[in-house]
Amino acid sequence: MKTAIVIGAGVAGLAAAIRLRVKGYGVQVFESNAFVGGKLHAFTDAGFRFDAGPSLFTLPQYVDDLFLCAGKNPRHYFNYSREAVVCHYFWPDGSFYSMPANEADFVRTASAFFNESAVTLEAYLKRNAFKYERTAPLFVERSLHKLSSFTDVATLKGIAAIPKLDLFGSLHALNTATFSNPKLVQLFNRYATYNGSSPYKTPGIMSMIPHLEMALGTYFPEGGMASISQSMYALATELGVEFHLNTSVDRLLHEGKAVRGVLTNQKEHPADVVVCNRDVFSAYRTLLPDVAAPEKILQQERSSSGIIFYWGIKQTFKQLHLHNIFFSESYEQEFHALFEEKTMPTDLTVYVNISSKLNPDDAPAGCENWFVMVNAPADVGQDWDMLIGQTRKLLIEKLSKALHCSVDELIVSEQVLEPRTIERKTASYGGSLYGTASNSRYAAFLRHPNFSKQFNNLYFCGGSVHPGGGIPLCLQSARIVADMIETPVG
Ligand code: FAD
Repeated sequence: MKTAIVIGAGVAGLAAAIRLRVKGYGVQVFESNAFVGGKLHAFTDAGFRFDAGPSLFTLPQYVDDLFLCAGKNPRHYFNYSREAVVCHYFWPDGSFYSMPANEADFVRTASAFFNESAVTLEAYLKRNAFKYERTAPLFVERSLHKLSSFTDVATLKGIAAIPKLDLFGSLHALNTATFSNPKLVQLFNRYATYNGSSPYKTPGIMSMIPHLEMALGTYFPEGGMASISQSMYALATELGVEFHLNTSVDRLLHEGKAVRGVLTNQKEHPADVVVCNRDVFSAYRTLLPDVAAPEKILQQERSSSGIIFYWGIKQTFKQLHLHNIFFSESYEQEFHALFEEKTMPTDLTVYVNISSKLNPDDAPAGCENWFVMVNAPADVGQDWDMLIGQTRKLLIEKLSKALHCSVDELIVSEQVLEPRTIERKTASYGGSLYGTASNSRYAAFLRHPNFSKQFNNLYFCGGSVHPGGGIPLCLQSARIVADMIETPVG
């Protein structure tokens, strides 16, 4: 039997392992941590359950597809429900908007709340849908680095649509040109952060992201976000994928134009194919130190990171939903601090996710599990201990004011994740959440390809390579990799 090794059991590594096993490979996965899922895992603290990383789930069909390709019924492993509300938005002046996850309701309520014309809102959403439909087949569903990707009808349609894709101005420029209410501009600017970028730099094409939420839907997995990776792990194990947890790959072994396996703890493991789910930057530096790295690609700006406080809260809040955003006064200053000064802003936008709203078992009775996150720059050696202390104080003040209570008196348990620990736990260079940022219109072309140009049997999947970070794109990277690897004969 032909053999494949996958380095890392992040969501993309798990998906690649499943797809290669289905193709007929004998698959082994090596994972440094004691658990699978990488950034997508959960933990408990003082009776509260927390999803450690992702909290927003879109395009669940990409997860279902893994079960379907293995001939299994996804519903026997993994279930989810569609959300009626995208997010609760709070502004510093006390105003509040609950954003429906449905385009018609959004247009009706937003035109009243933001005093914008329904026609303008409808046209914006329609254009977002157009951008998504024209570009997803090229940018999300296949390699951007193979000539064959550019020769079919869907791609040619995408190329023909370039003048209507808003590639040449920033997302902020598009939103200010479209809307007169600065709150609505801020709301739509926020979508830049979904891939760790700045609305003042990322191109206007990123306005396709709200289309995912409002038209295609946001979902909540039964049992929480970690059930995505846990169900994939269950499927992989059932299919016969062999997992080696607590086992770091130290080196990729190579000879001529091929990798011949991996080295763990001085033990060689041969394989016909190797798929690397480790962040591509640290993969070249650590696993392939003797190979000329593609420096131009590796030097691309990293996406933002985050500081996350996981708080057990001894109270419940009716005005809060699963997803909540407390906006800053000035988004421009906030993003200037993050991306130009590479420091923590003093006027923060705060995201609060509370899975116990939908999954009451995630917190003791009368309590809530708060995942409180603020954007942070990727780690370039900042004084994080000072910045985390300052940020904690600022966000407690902000939330206390908005919610008319003393939040610090309600915290009964606390854990913190920050750029340095994100890097330590997942090898994500600089602690970035989404690999490289999309702060230029060329970013998509400057991500590392899903294959190695030096070795003909080495492939890359995950948030640091094409098509980018976030669960759906990571799952697509694994599909692109599996499609490139030939089915073993016999
Ligand atoms: P990772 O999750 O980075 O995992 C890589 C794995 O490889 C790790 O388990 C690591 O231990 C292992 N590894 C590394 N080196 C080695 C080695 N040498 N040997 C063996 N194993 C190794 N995405 C969304 O879609 N929605 C969200 O709401 C969202 N919010 C986020 C919030 C936070 C706080 C974070 C951290 C991320 C968020 N993301 C979100 C991004 C999303 O989590 C990632 O894009 C995605 O999970 C990355 O998956 P991955 O497969 O690239 O690998």
